[in-house]
Amino acid sequence: MGVLKLTKEKFRKVDLINRISGQNVYDCYQCGRCTSGCPSADEMDIVPSQTMRFLQIGEVDKVVESNTPWVCLTCLICSVRCPKGIDIAAIMEALRLVKLRTNYDFIHPNKIPEEDLEELPPIALVAAFRKMTP
Ligand code: SF4
Ligand code: SF4
Repeated sequence: MGVLKLTKEKFRKVDLINRISGQNVYDCYQCGRCTSGCPSADEMDIVPSQTMRFLQIGEVDKVVESNTPWVCLTCLICSVRCPKGIDIAAIMEALRLVKLRTNYDFIHPNKIPEEDLEELPPIALVAAFRKMTP
């Protein structure tokens, strides 16, 4: 089997995710346990185990631009289930940070429907802004 060689640019992006998360995406051996326990997998463009594989082959942009990091509930089930001890939730957080660092707001206060503003508890809004805005 040939060795996958990443371009410098792709390597730099994978390295950034590893450094922000404190994990090593290359530890993943694709067992799929993270995905099988993830309560949000059905809603994700790219499920957690696929996310790990895309990161290993340097496709960071593809994952950052997917809905996956934003649909993640930070429930930590994946991190607990991983036999390699990878904190996948921390990787999801790193992916969100990379996107937010481009000054991208994932939610806009003026685009939240009035009925949601009336019904949502303030703490949910505060948590959403902390997670989804720079
Ligand atoms: S932390 Fe995110 S990716 Fe992991 S199981 Fe929970 S929702 Fe899925
Ligand atoms: S549980 Fe861990 S080793 Fe298994 S696919 Fe997910 S990240 Fe990879």
